[in-house]
Amino acid sequence: MTTVLITGATSGIGAAFARRFAEMGCDLVIVARDQDRLDRSAADLRTRFGVTVDVLAADLTDPPQCRTVEERLSTPDRPVDVLVNNAGFGLPAPFPHSPVDDEERMLDLLVRVPLRLTHAAIPGMTSRRRGVILNVSSVAGLLPTGTYGAAKAWITSFSESLRVDLAPYGIRVVALCPGFTRTEFQQRAKMDVSLLPSWAWLDADSVVNQALKDLRHNKPISITGWRYKAYAMAVRHLPRRTVAARLARSRKPPK
Ligand code: NAP
Repeated sequence: MTTVLITGATSGIGAAFARRFAEMGCDLVIVARDQDRLDRSAADLRTRFGVTVDVLAADLTDPPQCRTVEERLSTPDRPVDVLVNNAGFGLPAPFPHSPVDDEERMLDLLVRVPLRLTHAAIPGMTSRRRGVILNVSSVAGLLPTGTYGAAKAWITSFSESLRVDLAPYGIRVVALCPGFTRTEFQQRAKMDVSLLPSWAWLDADSVVNQALKDLRHNKPISITGWRYKAYAMAVRHLPRRTVAARLARSRKPPK
């Protein structure tokens, strides 16, 4: 039986991963902060798919709470075969106007947490010579888009390097780089997305289905939709000066 641990599994992309893996008959360990919501999600998944779902309530930005998840990942008698580093959030203001404690919390969740959870999962996966690590990054990591984009650039680069280190052990690593996806993310980050055209939106199930397809084809990076694929190709090949000038035009002038 395959066991999948998903961080941020109660909403958006993480919840879509939980549904998809449960549908495939995998047992789950789901992680988020809100205990009631975790319990409701777990009960729903057990009823609909008949799989075992363990719940771990943890604020991953709190090191002792994060360690409980690391311990679950490194427990040899209850192996985790698939780790989905998904939990994340964005901030409403650009770095110069953003409280530094919020910035640090975001960096923790997007960088320190996946680093620690991945490190905890690796010894078991290498000794069993099987495992999958899915890291939810973002197309924002392809561009200089503030500290959120910088953190996502880190996880994409980390994933690409890790997949080389872990390939000899039969462990596969994929970085997902979704574009705008309809989840609670925008509301939590207080983003005004009212002017975003409808074609720019993805749904979480499509992001997950594309990721699993790319995992089967052993692709390093998973991008959903031809528009975002074209966008990723363009920003990779445009001169950085052109990209920076385009970004500067998109920024609101300071009040
Ligand atoms: P979401 O709907 O807001 O879900 C976030 C999940 O993370 C929730 O389950 C939340 O549950 C959990 N979470 C938040 N803070 C946490 C913490 N400190 N400790 C543990 N769990 C925490 O967002 P989403 O869009 O699905 O985001 C998932 C990932 O996709 C993120 O890494 C995000 O950066 C990335 N992404 C999103 C988009 C997009 O447009 N939506 C695009 C590209 C990439 P609790 O609040 O109960 O903790």
